[in-house]
Formats: sequence, structure tokens, C-alpha cells
Amino acid sequence: MMSPEIVGCKIRVYGIVQGVGFRPFIFSLAQRYQLTGWVRNTSSGVEIEVNGSEKNISLFLQAIRNEAPPLSRIDQLESEPCTPNGYRQFEIVASQPEVGQFIPVSPDMSICSDCQHELFDPYNRRFRYPFINCTNCGPRFSIVRDIPYDRPLTTMSSFQMCAQCQKEYENPLDRRFHAQPIACPECGPKIWFQVNGERRAESEDALQLARQWLQQGKILAIKGLGGYHLACDATNSAAVTELRRRKRRSEKPFALMAFDLQTVRRHCILNPEEETLLLSPQKPIVLLERHPASAVALEVAPRQQTLGVMLAYTPLHLLLLEPAPGFPELLVMTSGNLSEEPICYEDEEALQRLMTIADAFLLHDRPIHMRVDDSVVRVIEGVRYPIRRARGYAPDPLTVAEPLSPILATGTELKNTFCLTREHYVFLSHHIGDMQNYETLRSFEEGIIHYQKLFRIQPEIIACDLHPDYLASRYAHQRAEQDQLPLIQIQHHHAHLAACLGDNGWDSGEPVIGLIFDGTGLGTDSAIWGGEVLLGNYQGYQRYFHLAYTPQPGGDISARKPARMALSHLWQAGIDWETDLPPVQALCYEERTALRSQLGRQINSPMTSSMGRLFDAISALLGICQVNTYEGQAAIEMEALADPAEMGFYPLEIQGDQIITNAMLHQIIGDWRAGIPIPVLAARFHNSVVQLVVELCLHVRNGNGHSTVALSGGVWQNRLLLTKTLQELKRAKFTVLIHHRVPANDGGIALGQALIANALTKG
Ligand code: ZN
Ligand code: ZN
Ligand code: FE
Repeated sequence: MMSPEIVGCKIRVYGIVQGVGFRPFIFSLAQRYQLTGWVRNTSSGVEIEVNGSEKNISLFLQAIRNEAPPLSRIDQLESEPCTPNGYRQFEIVASQPEVGQFIPVSPDMSICSDCQHELFDPYNRRFRYPFINCTNCGPRFSIVRDIPYDRPLTTMSSFQMCAQCQKEYENPLDRRFHAQPIACPECGPKIWFQVNGERRAESEDALQLARQWLQQGKILAIKGLGGYHLACDATNSAAVTELRRRKRRSEKPFALMAFDLQTVRRHCILNPEEETLLLSPQKPIVLLERHPASAVALEVAPRQQTLGVMLAYTPLHLLLLEPAPGFPELLVMTSGNLSEEPICYEDEEALQRLMTIADAFLLHDRPIHMRVDDSVVRVIEGVRYPIRRARGYAPDPLTVAEPLSPILATGTELKNTFCLTREHYVFLSHHIGDMQNYETLRSFEEGIIHYQKLFRIQPEIIACDLHPDYLASRYAHQRAEQDQLPLIQIQHHHAHLAACLGDNGWDSGEPVIGLIFDGTGLGTDSAIWGGEVLLGNYQGYQRYFHLAYTPQPGGDISARKPARMALSHLWQAGIDWETDLPPVQALCYEERTALRSQLGRQINSPMTSSMGRLFDAISALLGICQVNTYEGQAAIEMEALADPAEMGFYPLEIQGDQIITNAMLHQIIGDWRAGIPIPVLAARFHNSVVQLVVELCLHVRNGNGHSTVALSGGVWQNRLLLTKTLQELKRAKFTVLIHHRVPANDGGIALGQALIANALTKG
């Protein structure tokens, strides 16, 4: 009966095509175009075989590309004709595992609008069920133990589906077809409310009790998607202050969560791009300008004009924040950890570690396999600028044109991420944290093992930072020795430059001018670098200019105390420590005396060209911030004060390859003594750096004609500095690369390390 025009076609699709409703999508397309055959998951993607008319098959192929489900991402689609097999219908057939193959796993995604609708629909069987999800939404990466992505290999394996869920799961036309975390109140995870180890309430009662406690100003630990949060009423100063005290976090801002966009509009001034980001399926924390009328307690973000806000991203969060008279509009939702430790995700560990912070716990029994923090982003010039890349974005890989060797890059000390590469894929891990305690190290090691297993990567090259004492570098050394692999040590700022190039898909060998401004990174001359003008590519770099070396007496202690850096800069410039100057007043007589002798005798005073430390010094000099209780505080507070309308600036001299700040320091002090307002002085300092940058770039371009500039390093998270620099560099006809997929801070370093290691070993 086979009519002559029936032909066959084999199709392979690669990318994020599992756990995102891809097979039912193919199924419905096959119905539309009257095709017979089958579709199945493999360990590397999705495989399809169809029989039908040539015209319909070509329409089918077009539709796969044009109509793919929202969470999917097609990296590659291959098709080849084959002999028709006489299939009578179209079927979804069992998965086909292949040894050594792999497939990208979808990040965790926020609840979709269909599920949200059902959540609040009293006639739906999942009405107010905190774990409602479908093929378009819900947990993914945080519950996956291994691939292929099927229920037995997720943390949902212990929940036995009820008959109704099973039916939905098996029906190709249902929007929960093969939704691995499918669940309902009958068969799925449950919540409960716990005080002092004792269960007080379950299900809806637990939720209502949690809301009561929050409304009364209590602090709750709440188990979420990728870990635990600590929550309290964001408009209650006493509650926020108490949370700071118990968490031992003095001034670092807390993130907030709101039920919907309308609520955020009452507390922040939003532009359309920021709204889009807030509503995106990734639901990151977006740094927003605080509305003057906002009732959010000032203790949430002391001396800042921004608030970090995210929308409720799981059904549990929506239920928790559901608007009601007298209930707080915004909750503080900060990582459930002690200051500087990684986010808790295991129940026993969380109960133990958070016991002293939380008055009560809102818990559930769906295990978290991989801890993932909330992501943080900012909008710069209408484009997403990542600060912390985690939930919603990781482990989404970046793709590159030329295949890469299997590489493990271990990243750096602060804001650690690691990176694993395979073929055309670069897997930059989610945010791990500051590698300064055992907990974070454990999280880092577990993460590497998990990614290696999930993506079937056996590294053949190890890359790490030049600094031998970082825990991440030590791990790299051990791994290289143990597995007998080559180890490549990479200079920190070269890695920043390469990270920015990789972020922008830069694949030409042409050198780029890198303006790499950050806090700390070991240089090849053993000094601490951080105010660097490099010219380079993945293969190598030349150091063109840098901030003149200034002592950093005591090393890390001066990174914590901007006042010390201010005095060091004054000493270097030959300016007396007059007692009217704020940083002089901030340090006691004994500390100043010790500092003076340390500087004079060069004891334990590494030399630094750090731009971050220069921002610290100026912030202290202007009396804005003398102690950093969190990284970048002095610079952030100075940016918050700066008057954006001020156009004045101070000269910075360039002598040889050195940038000299003496004249600027003299002028700032003079203007300060003349009573010029601090916001004007703060702005002039920012403008001075902008002018300097343009001048340095012109120098390089005049010398060798290169006119592409990459801006990387944590200092560029300063929005005032970055937007003004972008304007001026564009005005001077430079092409400017900034970050938009990975952070400019050290969270992007591992990507740069991997790309450099690849370039160096490709020969
Ligand atoms: Zn959904
Ligand atoms: Zn069920
Ligand atoms: Fe850095």
C-alpha cells in the first residue's frame, strides 16, 4: 500500500532537548504533518525517524527549529534520507543509552504560567500544591543524579507515582508527559513546619503557620529549590537587624523576594529590560534602584541605593508570599548559611547549622542533589550583566566553534567557579563561593565530581591560577599529580581577559586591549596585580601599563581596611598623614605607628597595582568607608554617593608603563579641604578613571593599531564607571567587549583559564 512518494528521514537533535518537553513536541509535529515513525532520547540528544511525503518532512524539519519548546535549545540538527520502514503510526519509544555520550542538562527553571494558574485554581487537583511542575518548568539540575534524565536517576525516584500522575506522565499529549518531577498531593513531596526538632504542622497548616511567624517578625529557614533560605519580613527593621546579628553578617546586602512585578514596582524604579529579567524563566536576583517611597528596612542594604530583588520562582514561594492584608510585601530571602559558608542543602546539616539562626523551619522531603544559589544580575545599557551565575543559568554550557580538549580549570579563590570542557561545550559551574573554609572546599570537590560524571568528562589537562596557595590551585596540583596530567598555571588577569573574549565568542587570534581592573591577582613578578592594561588573546599577553606599585601593608588586612590603603597611597605620594584626614582619624595612634614602620622598612608589605585597592583608598580618603565588611563595600558605597551629573576629573600621569596617582591625590585632598561636597569628589574620581582608560587605549591604538577593548575584573561591576567608560570609548571609536554571560568578577576566571589552556596545548 506504500505510495511511491513516501520517503524516510533520520534526524538527530543535539542541545538541551531532554526534560523540556521535546519528545511530545516532536510527537505533535509528526501528527500535524502526517508522519509515521518514532522519537527517542539517547545519551547525546534526541533521535527521530520519520516516513512521509518529502514536502511534509521538510516542513517538519523547519518546524522543529522554529517552534521548539521554550526551555529547549537546539545546538545542532542533522538529517539524512533513509529507506522508509512502513511504520503505521508515530510513537515515542524507550531511551537508548550510549556509553560515553552525554547531553546538557537543563538548569532549574521557575514555575511556568500554566502551572501558576493551576496552583491557584480551586478546581484543579493540584490546587495549592507546593510542588506542581510540568515539562516547561520546575527543578532539573538540582535533582539530577545522573543521565539520561529519567525519574529513577533523579531525587524523585523514591516517590511512587499515583495512577493519575502516571497517566499524565505517559500521555504524549499531556503537558506533563515525561515531566520527571511530576507529583501531586496524593503521591508527591510534602511540606511541614518544625520548631526545635518537633513537627508542628503539615501541608496547608504548615504554610499558614510559616506565614504567621513571618508576619510576627520571626526568622525562618526555608528549604527551597537549590538549598535553604533564611527569611524574614523585609519591612521589619528589628527582624532584619536580628537576622544580621545571628547570621554574623554585618552590612552585606540581603536579597529580597516578591510575589509579583506589581509589588516590585512599589519598591524599585524599573526599566523595561529589568522587568523582562525579573520575569524571565531564570528568575535571577536583579539589582534595582530603590524607590524613595519604599518601606523596605534600611538595614536590608545599608548605605546603598540598590535593592536585590527576585520574584517568587517556585510554587512554594508563591504560596508563601501570596498577598494578604498585613502580610509583608517583601521577604528577605538570603542564602541559608553562616556568613561566607556555602548554602545549606542537606537536611541534617541544615538543621544543625541553621538552628542558631532560625526560629523555625519550613521543610519538605524532596532531596536536593546539587546545591545551587540564586543568580544575581544587573542591567547595563539595556543588557544583562551577570554578577553571580548560578540557578537558572548553570549548567547551561557555552558553545565554541572549534572543539576543545577535555580540560578542568579550577578557577580562583574568591567567588569560585570551575570549568570543564568537552568538544564544542564549555561547562562553567554554578557559583561555588569563597574558597576559604572546609565547607566550600567540599562543595567545590563534590561539584567537580558531579559535573564530570553528568557530562562524561575525563579531563586530560588541568588549569589553575598562578597563586600556589589557593585551595583551588592546590586541588589542581593534586589532581595533576594523581592523574598524571599536564598542569598549566595561568596569570589571573590574563584569565580575566580570556574570559571576556570567550564570553563574547571572540574566535579570531587578533590581540585585544584588556583593561583588567580588580582587587587581587598574583602577577608574574610576585607583586599583587589589579590595575592592568594588557594586550593579548588566548595564547598570550603583554603588560602595557599598570597602576604604579604601592605597598599593601600586611596584605589581606589592608584589603579589609581601606583606611590603611589610603595611608599607604598618601605615604607613597609623599603626603603627610594630617589628622584632619578621615582615614588618619579612623586608625588609632598605635596602628598608624606600626603602619609607618611597616611601610618604612617594607616588612610584610607586598607591592600592589590593584585598582580595587585604589578605589578603597579614595573611599576612605573621602570619609565614606574605612572598613570593608564585605568585598567591594568601600567602592560600592562611593559609587552610591557619586553625583552622576558631575563632569569634572583629575589628571593621572602616565610615566613609561606606570600610572601615577600622586597629582590626583593632592588635588582630591585640596578640594576636600576646600569643602567641595563628597558626591562631587566621588564623581570626579570615577571620571578620572574613565579619562585615564580612554587615554591608555589611545596610547595602545596609536602604537599598534588595535582598537578592540575588553573590560573585565570585578571593578567593572561599578555601573557608573562602566557606563561612562563605554560612552567615552565608543565616542573614541573603540569596539568594546563587556561581559554578558559570565561575571566580570572572579566567577568568570575558570572560563578564561580553560580557553587559555586549550589555546596553549593546541600548538
Ligand atoms: Zn509548568
Ligand atoms: Zn500523583
Ligand atoms: Fe580578579
